[in-house]
Amino acid sequence: MTESEALEIFKKAGGYLEGHFLLTSGLHSPAYVEKFKVLQHPEYCDALCEGIAEKFKDDKIDVVLGPAVGAIVLAYGTARALKTRGIFMERENGKFVLRRGFSIGPTERVLVVEDVVTTGSSVFEILDALPTERAEGRIAGVGYLVDRSGGKADFKVPRQAPLMHLDLPTFSPEACPLCAKGMELTKRGSRKLA
Ligand SMILES: [Zn+2]
Repeated sequence: MTESEALEIFKKAGGYLEGHFLLTSGLHSPAYVEKFKVLQHPEYCDALCEGIAEKFKDDKIDVVLGPAVGAIVLAYGTARALKTRGIFMERENGKFVLRRGFSIGPTERVLVVEDVVTTGSSVFEILDALPTERAEGRIAGVGYLVDRSGGKADFKVPRQAPLMHLDLPTFSPEACPLCAKGMELTKRGSRKLA
């Protein structure tokens, strides 16, 4: 899957919104990514998971692991494409742990999946929370849908593979060209488009 094919899926599903958005950071942006608008469609979700799986098909993956909640469907979809197990970690007292009878064997090769990486903090936490040491060769890599980090999120794994990179500009309200044009501001996550 090429970057433009992945972006096309986001656009078709209404998960890539263009307009004038107020982000939780207080900054303004001309575009916003709403991942679950895309992942709610099994055919789009499957296509994206197959795109991630394709990047790791020769890595002898034993288990695909994602952080709850966003990456649960990605872990299962990617695992299906790779014919492996798909599991997730969830927070308990603020820390990611394996629950529900999930476990990872000491020699199993792990592929970590995520949806949108901005700072990558969830992925870093998952890597640090793995039940045994991060031995070389055990973590095959990190596959994810969108890199919004501008190249800043570096997981230091053998392979780090987003389906697409999005470098979306953000502006302070005083310096926002869309405000200057008088364009109506949409709150992040709202269905209403400016
Ligand atoms: Zn603005």
